[in-house]
Amino acid sequence: MLGQQKAVLSLQAQLRTNRIAQAYLFAGPEGVGRKKTAIEVAKALNCRDKEQIEPCDECPSCRKIDKNIHPDVHLIDFAWQAGLLEEKPEQQTQIKIDVIREIQREISLKRFEGNYKVFIIDQAEKMSQSAMNCLLKTLEEPPENSLLILVTTSQDMLTQTIISRCQIIKFNRLMDSVVHKILTEKFNLSTNLDRITKFANGSVAKASSEDFIEKTEFVNELWSGLKSKEDDTINLLELSKKISHDSEQTKEFINNLLILIEQDLVNESRFSKVAEFILSCKRALRYNVNLNLLTDVLLLKTQEIICR
Ligand SMILES: [Zn+2]
Repeated sequence: MLGQQKAVLSLQAQLRTNRIAQAYLFAGPEGVGRKKTAIEVAKALNCRDKEQIEPCDECPSCRKIDKNIHPDVHLIDFAWQAGLLEEKPEQQTQIKIDVIREIQREISLKRFEGNYKVFIIDQAEKMSQSAMNCLLKTLEEPPENSLLILVTTSQDMLTQTIISRCQIIKFNRLMDSVVHKILTEKFNLSTNLDRITKFANGSVAKASSEDFIEKTEFVNELWSGLKSKEDDTINLLELSKKISHDSEQTKEFINNLLILIEQDLVNESRFSKVAEFILSCKRALRYNVNLNLLTDVLLLKTQEIICR
């Protein structure tokens, strides 16, 4: 696992000495390998080749887990919940108590063929309050040979009681040098590497997505137009439409814009004012705001502050 030596070494040591916790919390940013590592742990625990700690990737058990069809290993996410509730995946906004009850039913059954029952809950921070309370019972008295792995980007959104019953494994932002390597190898980039690396924010998934370069160029151009006053109001309102398709997109744009503003203005007095304003726009995303209106204000007011 690229760039996550500490997390991986700690898990390997526990596997080697048979001191697996009954619940883990894999916490860290998007795209750094948390879910993949959780699956590797499930494979290692159930692998039929007992000669080594690392899973063999070839036995029937490893293969079934890779295909997500192993009867004792469950990857719980919105798609899984949608299947359980017979709803559409895009309708899922939080992990419901029904899912936790299903896990509890499943975890109490005899193992089908594996050594361990493993439940990986992706986006665990999306559990509803009642789901978290319900899960607590399982965390307090987990059955033998069962393992829960909660995967999260936002540990602070889980209740303290949940966190205290899990062993926390931290996944770090990938080091910029690793992202550098990906950018040069995948995109053949040689110029502006440092600036572009910053946009990836330590995430391999981000750095290697097909439209990554396109997105960074878009923000770069927009920022140039904004600060040079080349873009007039009509122009900015047009651009605003392009960054308000959904709140994730707007959030990503705001993060990227902040990176550029910090690079260009950090030593100037207008920096704190504009950064403060942009952060207040980002916070507004938590509420049910009209996105296009928000990005209109974001662009127009940012230009007003920096060109004053
Ligand atoms: Zn195997």
